Amino acid sequence: MTHNETERLLALRKLDLLDTAPSEAFDRITRMAARVFGLPIAAVSLTDSDRQWFKSRVGVSHTSIPRLKAPCAGVTDCGDMLVINDLQEDAFFRDSPLARSGIRFYAGAPLITSDGYSLGAMCVLGPEPRAISGTERDALIDLAAMVMSQIELQHTLGRVDPLSGMPNRKQFIEDFADLQMDRPQGEQRVAVLVNMANQEQLNNAARVMGASYFDDLMNEAIRSYRAVMGEEHKVYQLAATQFITIAPPATDEARYSARLAHWLDSRSAWGTSRFVTTPAIGIAPFVLGRTDCLDVLRIAQNAMQDAHRTGLPIGSYSSEQDAAYRRRFTLLNAFDAALHDTRQLRLVYQPRIDLGTGACIGAEALLRWRHPELGDVPPGEFMPVVEQTSMVRAATSWVIREAVRQLAVWHAAGLQLQMSVNVSSANLLEADFVSTVTALLNQHRVAPGWLELEVTESAIMENQGTALATLAALDQAGVRLAIDDFGTGYSSLAYLQSMPAHVVKIDQSFVRNMAGGERNRTLVNTMISLSHELGFRVVAEGIETDDVRQLLHEQGCDEGQGYLFARPLAPEELFAWCARAQAGQPAARTPWAPICPPLPFPAPEPVPEPEPEPHTAT
Ligand code: C2E
Ligand code: MG
Ligand code: MG
Repeated sequence: MTHNETERLLALRKLDLLDTAPSEAFDRITRMAARVFGLPIAAVSLTDSDRQWFKSRVGVSHTSIPRLKAPCAGVTDCGDMLVINDLQEDAFFRDSPLARSGIRFYAGAPLITSDGYSLGAMCVLGPEPRAISGTERDALIDLAAMVMSQIELQHTLGRVDPLSGMPNRKQFIEDFADLQMDRPQGEQRVAVLVNMANQEQLNNAARVMGASYFDDLMNEAIRSYRAVMGEEHKVYQLAATQFITIAPPATDEARYSARLAHWLDSRSAWGTSRFVTTPAIGIAPFVLGRTDCLDVLRIAQNAMQDAHRTGLPIGSYSSEQDAAYRRRFTLLNAFDAALHDTRQLRLVYQPRIDLGTGACIGAEALLRWRHPELGDVPPGEFMPVVEQTSMVRAATSWVIREAVRQLAVWHAAGLQLQMSVNVSSANLLEADFVSTVTALLNQHRVAPGWLELEVTESAIMENQGTALATLAALDQAGVRLAIDDFGTGYSSLAYLQSMPAHVVKIDQSFVRNMAGGERNRTLVNTMISLSHELGFRVVAEGIETDDVRQLLHEQGCDEGQGYLFARPLAPEELFAWCARAQAGQPAARTPWAPICPPLPFPAPEPVPEPEPEPHTAT
């Protein structure tokens, strides 16, 4: 044999045949072999590292036997036909498991690939000693060849796109592995992924023109791509409108990009595309031996999607962007586990102050996530990722459950605060959202008015009809509603008027800038008076200095939240903070002292001021 055993096993594994389900195409040949020889046992037997595995078998119950002393392994090793008229008489096979099980006759023809790899044997076996005629020998060789045709056919079919006949993703992965072996390690290469239409165009065209429209579009694109970029490009079809190719060695990325742009420009000459599509190209440079094939595909996809998003025709991989994608992906995958791990998620509570009296009247629950490896991840980073998935349902449910439980604990301890919880747009579309919230309040015997749900304007606008209906039902149930981050979204007066909300929370970006100039102060002043006219109570977020607090108070702002009063606190810290306030001790580091609702018991010992939170402005 020209190949060593390692290469042979690699060739066998590449065929993806081992441990696959039985298939009639093979069984038909095996049955025919048994019939031709008039024998009870026949098999298509593949030689794995330590076993003979049967892709097809007649008259045998097990799916594999040990390779040691198996005659089929002998066929594989010598790559030639092997006939043993009587195993009992054979010095080598006499004590083989096969002989011991009562088998006397064996004949096997090798299964050899077009590259010369010997995979196993097409074999027939019988309980009586027997000879083999020349015709039978030829028949067994023919049957082995039929098995090989079937193997190669199935292999090829799995590697081409059934409609276009182009090599597919699987073939790309396989060829990539060959490239890693054949070309010098460390060689710089460039993969180019082309997507001929965005999702919307794909949907529209498929509706109007039928799916075959894309076959024409793709054929046209691939033909012209190779004409412009070079016929040596092997093109792989990844999806209905996507193909990928690897640029030749020593390709200069900048020059190649310019040629790609030229190819795109020449599109109008391609043919008669009746639909306008916007192709996007993702370029992924990689180093042979260092970049995994799946990473190349992923990076190229991301670069292509960036191109679609930004409206530029060509997107190139950037390591910062890739790191950001990876982090988002990691967070997404890890969040589900966090929901079930009590050590990872917790709530902190930021006091809300009545600016008129200085009393702490409530607290906003804010989610905190400590990832076991990544450490603290701010909600401004992970919530937008979670909000894009169905996990947002479980996340909000976790937060509300925990916040209401804490609320009940405080109330039982005599701390009469209102609790605000942030909810996401997707929550407003949940059919059972209102009933779940009210059931939870009932369970903890908390009157609905103690709970306030904060929603952003954009969350409402995303799905106005359903969102407004949910808000109306919550309002009906007595739950209070606040419009969070007011001023950053649509701020449409018309819909603000019809909103079943009680509170408007002016976004911290406006509040923070107040000290900076007259214009900003006027802006906040307008927001406050407008909200008052519409009947809302107004809360200012992000009050960091006493000047700003003073200004807001003068402008008639009702309530405030911010680092001036307190950072978000752990529940026991908030309790102690209130106790300290009640005892008339000003909060350290600020000239400002809140008053708190009276506590019905001696205030606990003041706890040290909590570690300041890192700035997590959103
Ligand atoms: P938000 O609801 O507007 O919350 C206010 C954010 O401003 C909080 O950031 C808070 O820590 C921060 N903040 C409060 N006072 C000040 C201040 O004086 N200066 C500055 N610079 N920042 C201040 P945090 O906790 O990082 O939360 C960011 C955002 O993440 C929240 O904005 C909210 O949109 C979202 N979020 C937090 N927890 C949850 C949650 O449980 N569910 C949902 N859906 N979103 C949440
Ligand atoms: Mg909020
Ligand atoms: Mg806010």
